[in-house]
Amino acid sequence: MTIVENYNKILQTINTFKKETKLIVVTKGQDLSKISPLIQMGHQDFGENRVQEAYIKWQKIILSNPLINLHLIGKLQSNKAADAFKIFNFIHTLENEKLANIFSKLENDSNRKIKYFIQVNIGSEVQKSGISINDLNDFVRYCTKELSLNILGLMCIPPINKDPDEYFSLLKSLSAKNGFKDLSMGMSSDYEKAIKFDSTYLRVGSAIFVTNSI
Ligand SMILES: *Cc1c(COP(=O)(O)O)cnc(C)c1O
Repeated sequence: MTIVENYNKILQTINTFKKETKLIVVTKGQDLSKISPLIQMGHQDFGENRVQEAYIKWQKIILSNPLINLHLIGKLQSNKAADAFKIFNFIHTLENEKLANIFSKLENDSNRKIKYFIQVNIGSEVQKSGISINDLNDFVRYCTKELSLNILGLMCIPPINKDPDEYFSLLKSLSAKNGFKDLSMGMSSDYEKAIKFDSTYLRVGSAIFVTNSI
């Protein structure tokens, strides 16, 4: 299967189950020669996990393709937030007040507003990023009421080697309790399951870019 065939197969799955679901093509570690065919086909949503890499790869392209949306899906250090704000349209990894305050100031100092997902440490793992479930409601209130950030919904990365269903289900209910419509969940190994739990933004990389020619 080629990259384009992999991509089309995933789009077809989305169309079969839930047409409104958006596909973010995760391009971290991929060079442009592999991404270009998808841009030419009109794909608009791409995900990167590092700010620096996003600049090197995308800065020129977005000038000539203003409809492209870049999604930051990796952990963000606060000293990189200003750079991230300039190039990304969506931040999926908002996870603490310090970052929220920085983005609020960046928005107030410019005429630009971007979109955010709050990352939740859904499996309560010590090594994982994301706000704890206990602190979530207060953080949501802070971001939306105090800072007026445009929070679309919640994002999670379930623990590896566990059935993601339980975590997708939990994120979905936390999302509903907070009145959100959007959910950022589902990667190459579990995007079909994520669709069933009403994810609206899938983040898929290797299932598109790993091509096997047997
Ligand atoms: C890399 C990455 C993805 C995509 O992972 P694949 O398994 O390659 O689809 C999705 N979300 C996050 C946060 C990632 O870092």
